[in-house]
Amino acid sequence: MNTSCDVLIVGGGIGGLSTAFSLTRQGLAVRVLERAAEFGEVGAGIQLAPNCTRILHDYGLLEEAASLGVLPSRMVMRDALDGSDLTALDLADLERTYGFPYMVIHRSDLHGMFLRACRRAGVDLVTDSPVTGYRNTADGAAVTLADGSERSARVVIAADGLHSTARGLLVEDEPVSSDYAAYRGTVPVADLDRGVDLSEVAVYVGPGCHFVHYALRGGEMLNQVAVFESPKARAGEAEWGTPDELDAAFADTCPAVREAIPSMWRDRWWPMFDRDPIMTWVQGSIALLGDAAHPPLQYMAQGAIMAIEDGWVLGAHAARQRRADGAVDWPAALAAYEAVRAEHCRRVVLTARAWGDLWHLDGLARRQRNAILRARETTDHSFTDWVYRPTALLPEDEPEMFRPIPLASAGDPAEAPHRARI
Ligand SMILES: Cc1cc2nc3c(=O)[nH]c(=O)nc-3n(C[C@H](O)[C@H](O)[C@H](O)COP(=O)(O)OP(=O)(O)OC[C@H]3O[C@@H](n4cnc5c(N)ncnc54)[C@H](O)[C@@H]3O)c2cc1C
Repeated sequence: MNTSCDVLIVGGGIGGLSTAFSLTRQGLAVRVLERAAEFGEVGAGIQLAPNCTRILHDYGLLEEAASLGVLPSRMVMRDALDGSDLTALDLADLERTYGFPYMVIHRSDLHGMFLRACRRAGVDLVTDSPVTGYRNTADGAAVTLADGSERSARVVIAADGLHSTARGLLVEDEPVSSDYAAYRGTVPVADLDRGVDLSEVAVYVGPGCHFVHYALRGGEMLNQVAVFESPKARAGEAEWGTPDELDAAFADTCPAVREAIPSMWRDRWWPMFDRDPIMTWVQGSIALLGDAAHPPLQYMAQGAIMAIEDGWVLGAHAARQRRADGAVDWPAALAAYEAVRAEHCRRVVLTARAWGDLWHLDGLARRQRNAILRARETTDHSFTDWVYRPTALLPEDEPEMFRPIPLASAGDPAEAPHRARI
């Protein structure tokens, strides 16, 4: 295992594996170090918008993904209290507009697809390898494993998730609690005792809560996510997001939502954290990627997609920065990666916070939101165009996004330029 490689990737989640595949396509020798005993993902669904399916197509993986996932025909947002339709996205029109489909897929199927692609491509996949430290070296970077041994490479990519160790090299920060918890529940459609339209991705938004469902695996399974604000978290209690809070949060919702709550998994739940955006992801030959760099709240369904985009952009810049002797000019490639990705991801993280606020409104603000959403054309993509269009490789590709913004405001959602647009 101590044979040399060009790139060490720490973390074998969707970000780490998709990046390993992207860099291996460029002829680089890549090793992934995963702390767990096996590569794997939790069994729930994930949404893949056109900015991701476009990359899967480029990787030659779109057909495989489509055979594992579902292509819904519309996404609909409803009021969680009265169940009425607020707005919808015509996903066939979205595909016509962007050239690639909107897909939903089981996370373990997506992860498994990248794992197989990495194996075929010859990525060195190593489990049981928790990384505890990072350092830059004269000709690259090295990581320390829990057993004290070191592994080195020309460049180290830290894709080690929300609680990233590597992030500490760049910033002293902590995950930011939203005080919301997510429950998941993936159930066989045959076991459902209620009617569900499997052709749609449905999002029910309500005061302090929302509920999402969509079909997986050719319509055999229904993926469900129930998210709510925890009063215990607000009160500063250590144990929060408990099942009694789930039941209370959805007690007044419409029957379509209320009747789904008993089928959520109750033995585990996900407290929702993000982090304030940072604009520096690279230190020497060590770079952050995926949730390690930009963990979002899930409201825009772009977290894993951003990680996949990061890997695709990094692969493109590694190819562009090949010198005549075949070696990659890594400082130039990493600088180009950071220059385009940090601003895009900053916007997604801050917009996701703002969307959460919008979804969870109550009282007059809820009624005003509903009136605005009902007036929206289902083919109006203006709010999401900056997200779904082709992933930018250079800041020049997204000129309106790169107008000067004072860095001091990077962590303050109130000053984010998109906030006023929502
Ligand atoms: C409820 C919910 C719904 C979501 N829905 C969507 C969606 O629809 N679409 C979407 O795009 N995103 C969605 N997301 C976000 C998405 O799940 C994450 O953004 C994405 O999984 C991040 O991938 P990652 O590879 O960067 O990190 P992770 O998935 O966290 O992977 C990190 C990996 O690194 C390993 N690791 C950690 N520390 C070490 C170490 N020290 N040494 C070695 N290995 C280590 C971990 O074991 C893990 O395998 C959702 C998230 C939630 C919570």
